[in-house]
Formats: sequence, structure tokens, C-alpha cells
Amino acid sequence: MTIWVFSEEAGGHASASALELLTKARAIGETNVFHIGAGSETAIEELGSHGAAKVFHMTTDEHLPSAAAAAALAALVEEHGADLILFGMDNTDRDVGGRLSARLGRPVLANAVDVSSGPPVSVTSEILGGTQAVVTEFTSDAPAIIFVRPKAFAAEPSGGSVAEIVPVTEPDVGRSGTAVIVESHVEESEGPDLEAAAVVVSGGRGVGSEEKWSLIEDLATQLKAAIGATRAVVDAGWVPARLQVGQTGKTVKPDIYIAAGVSGAMQHVVGMKNAGTIIAINKDAEAPIFAVADLGIVGDLHSVLPKLTEALKER
Ligand SMILES: Cc1cc2nc3c(=O)[nH]c(=O)nc-3n(C[C@H](O)[C@H](O)[C@H](O)COP(=O)(O)OP(=O)(O)OC[C@H]3O[C@@H](n4cnc5c(N)ncnc54)[C@H](O)[C@@H]3O)c2cc1C
Repeated sequence: MTIWVFSEEAGGHASASALELLTKARAIGETNVFHIGAGSETAIEELGSHGAAKVFHMTTDEHLPSAAAAAALAALVEEHGADLILFGMDNTDRDVGGRLSARLGRPVLANAVDVSSGPPVSVTSEILGGTQAVVTEFTSDAPAIIFVRPKAFAAEPSGGSVAEIVPVTEPDVGRSGTAVIVESHVEESEGPDLEAAAVVVSGGRGVGSEEKWSLIEDLATQLKAAIGATRAVVDAGWVPARLQVGQTGKTVKPDIYIAAGVSGAMQHVVGMKNAGTIIAINKDAEAPIFAVADLGIVGDLHSVLPKLTEALKER
């Protein structure tokens, strides 16, 4: 079985999703990567060590890369064959995958949390806040194009293989490739990365106000934890959108997830339910968050959080 994985370089590294997908793909068959961006030594090494046999690399410039990337990948797939083409769910992944689907005349299945090589190739996705799993089979001819959710698979190096690099010339896609990126910036953040942190402290609307958000920050500081938030808090403008956990935010899988003043709406739970230990603090004993929590404190977070923070300071 021939599998292709899409990767976009950022900050000198291969995309996190590509390393996760490679870990899954290498167990299924021969895996090639289509990598766009600068092509740093580190990024190529990462792809090789996670199981890429060949890395087809296309350099990108100030133009939006998706139209050219989709055309180049379509040509590669037609030349070398493909049974599965795996994308993450980042913006460029979706843009390239959608265009590729149109070019190849093949359907896309999205939101996968697992992939089976079949035959037929099938995809598992989750509905109703992850309480139900749906398995969907491809009935079309290969290749199957699949978008996989972040953290569906854990990225693990395979033990040191070196990928062959194959340079790819950027194809001319006419007017569809003329859009230019006029500005980009790296969002500033303090403390541990939310998606990689071992401990996450998340706050919901129950925190009460932007001024009270320091209760979450103080506990997070003591635990060296990343800070997360519900969409209600982001919509209220208390914290930036990059902290949002959930269906339309980030998917996290820390060892410990503390949810304070979070009701446990399914759109939030879907982004954190795979955490190792979930600790919920909520004044409503009937709050749905307690259904997914391993430990629960029924109480007012305005008194519980300062006590927790103080106890940690004293240790
Ligand atoms: C299409 C769509 C996508 C969405 N995507 C997301 C997403 O990605 N992430 C997300 O989080 N939401 C998302 N939502 C919104 C989601 O449905 C909920 O509205 C949101 O998660 C609720 O946030 P909350 O728990 O902070 O607020 P609330 O539901 O208002 O809950 C507040 C909780 O705090 C408790 N509380 C109040 N005061 C205290 C106190 N003093 N001490 C302790 N507990 C207290 C209450 O009992 C309550 O349980 C989405 C919604 C839609 C429709």
C-alpha cells in the first residue's frame, strides 16, 4: 500500500500533524511525504526518523502555497501511485486537500480519529462529543483522501532511518497561484505550549470576570501548566482565541487537565476528554463536566483555587 503524508514546515520543523500521521502510516505501508516550505535539515530529519521513505520537497515563496502544492501533489500521485493520502487539519492541509480532491476527482473524509487500510479503506470519526464512533468506508477508487484530527496518533520516532529527498519544481497554476501572503506573524505566548503541556489548567465562564482570571494563572504558574479556556471565555474577550480548547479550538492530551468553572459542553469536552486525569471544579454538582472527570470538587472556584495555589506554594 502506498501512502502519502502532507507536511508544511513551520519554524524549521516538520508539521506536528505530519509526524503523528507518519507514525500511523509507516505501520500500514510504504510512506512518502510531500513537504512544502524551506526544507530545513531538521525538518527533513524529523520526517525520516518518523518513517518517511522519501520526502518530495517543494520550496515555497511569498505566494499562498495551496494551489501549486495541490497541483504538484496531484502530479506526484499520478506518477507514483497512491492508496491513501493523509492530511492534518491545519489551514494549509485543508486548503491543499480540498484542491487535491477536485483535481483527482476523489472524495475526502474529514475529522478522522483512526484510519484502517481495509480493504476497503475506512475512517473512524466521533460524534456527539466523542460519545459515539462512526466508521465510514470509501467506496470510490483509490486514492482515499483523509483529514485526521490532531493527536489522533502519538508521534513516535521509528529509530533513525534517513529519508531520500526528491526536489519538486513548483508548477505554474496561472491565476490561482497569484495570491500573495502580505503579512504573517508568530503569536506571542508565555509558558508551556498548550498542545504539548503535561498539565493544563482551564477556566470557564464560572471564573466570573477577566479580573478574576488571575486565579487560573496563579494555579497554572505553581503547576508549571499551560492555560486553556472555553469558548465562552474567549468570546467574552478575557483571553485570546489561541487558548481555546475544543471542537473549534485546540485538542489537548495532557497528563492532567484541571477544568475550573467549565460546564463540560460537548464542544469543549471533545478537545480534552483524552487527557490522562481530568479534575473538575464546579459549584454545580450536576454539571456535565463531572461525567468525564476522574476527580471532582463541588465548590466555588473562588475559594477552592486560592487554597490549592497556597497549598502548592507551601510545598
Ligand atoms: C459550533 C460550536 C462550536 C463550539 N466550539 C467550542 C470549543 O471549541 N470550545 C468550547 O469550550 N466551547 C465551544 N462551543 C461552546 C460550547 O457549546 C459552550 O457554550 C461553552 O463551552 C461553555 O463554556 P463554559 O463552560 O465556560 O460556560 P458555561 O456553560 O456558562 O458554564 C459555566 C460553568 O461554571 C460553573 N460555575 C459558575 N460559577 C462558578 C463558581 N463560582 N465556581 C465553580 N463553578 C462555577 C457553572 O456551574 C457552569 O457549569 C461551541 C459551540 C458551538 C455551537
